[in-house]
Amino acid sequence: MTDDADRLFEARPPSPLPDETAALPRRGRRRPALLSSTLVGSTNRRRVIEALFDHGPMSRAELARQAGVNRTTISGIVQPLIDQQLLVEGEAMPARAGGGKPGRPLRFSPDARPICGTLLMPGSVRSALVTLDGHILAEDEQSFATDLDVPGPIVEAITSAIVRAIAPARRAPLGIGVAVGGMVDTDLGTIVAVNLVPALNGLRLGSELEKRFSLPVLLDHHPRALLVGDRWFGKGRGIRDFAVVYTGEVLGGALYLDGHLQRGFAGAGGELGHTFVQVDGELCRCGRRGCWDTIATLSWLRAEARAAGLPDAERINSERLVGLAAAGNPGAGTLLDRYARNIAIGIANLQQTVAPNRFILHGDVVGGSDTMIGAILNHVRQLVPWRPRGEITFDAGETEDRAALRGAAGLVLSHLLQFPL
Ligand SMILES: [Zn+2]
Repeated sequence: MTDDADRLFEARPPSPLPDETAALPRRGRRRPALLSSTLVGSTNRRRVIEALFDHGPMSRAELARQAGVNRTTISGIVQPLIDQQLLVEGEAMPARAGGGKPGRPLRFSPDARPICGTLLMPGSVRSALVTLDGHILAEDEQSFATDLDVPGPIVEAITSAIVRAIAPARRAPLGIGVAVGGMVDTDLGTIVAVNLVPALNGLRLGSELEKRFSLPVLLDHHPRALLVGDRWFGKGRGIRDFAVVYTGEVLGGALYLDGHLQRGFAGAGGELGHTFVQVDGELCRCGRRGCWDTIATLSWLRAEARAAGLPDAERINSERLVGLAAAGNPGAGTLLDRYARNIAIGIANLQQTVAPNRFILHGDVVGGSDTMIGAILNHVRQLVPWRPRGEITFDAGETEDRAALRGAAGLVLSHLLQFPL
């Protein structure tokens, strides 16, 4: 397995620096004379890979047109990917009216070695075997105690979930991506802090897994993995600006602006739940006061459902709340509107800060379907002043964790394709 993985990586030129493309002129401000040939190369490569993912299989000629590059450039970019068996050329398509040589469509190979995507949350770890086009072939889940003093048993649980998930594959996966429900140093592959599982703080999970599996391992913050999943396999395909917001037991978010995933230094940022919405407000589990987390998570909803005397308050979530409101429970209707408004406040702050305009929601609120999502959107629209071409739209992602598993796999895919997110 090591040999295969090594060969694949030796074939690659060095990865572009993360900030190389960040220095590109923004759309509409073309200054080609100032672009170095290396930069042009990585830009072309990016366009070709984006076109294949966003528009599906196409011939080299179509790809050249779509990506705005010439045929020679296309060959230089796709041939190494074909050699590495990441791309395949299909049967020739019938020639179009007017003649011309029939093209063979290029697509990401369904038979390529899959990727292992893993989601590490407090108390449980899920692992999946994911194909290059985002299909989940196998999955496993292991649980662990959150009050341990040492991380050893958790690393064993993670290893076991990965081993079981990748067992059905005949070949070693291309790499392992891990989405972590906590702060991550993405440069070092280290977990910085998981509030609810202190034993994980400071764990060098990346190097630990690399040692055990002899595969490349990439770690990132859970909401950023969701965004990467949406970008490659979901509703973010073909979109240059969007934000992902995750709600539920915790809150988190990630931003994709002008075609780039936003990460603070070494993966910092994205802690939307701990942005402040009320000076000296309620005490948050992070130890500070007035965080968005204190008014827009499921723990807030449960406490308010208890106070309002709603039935089964301990099991309340968006789906149940919408059901109760639809059944005419007056307390539920009021609480639904308050919960929607509290969630809207954090989203409105994000819109006011960088104006992504388009939001893909994941987690609990998706279970509340159009009723819950529409209520949040209405509040966001009321909180943010209207401006021309600034229409705010919402899309629903997935309630369950498969989006995060695909996203974790997407981290590896971006790395393999040398696609600097
Ligand atoms: Zn907090």
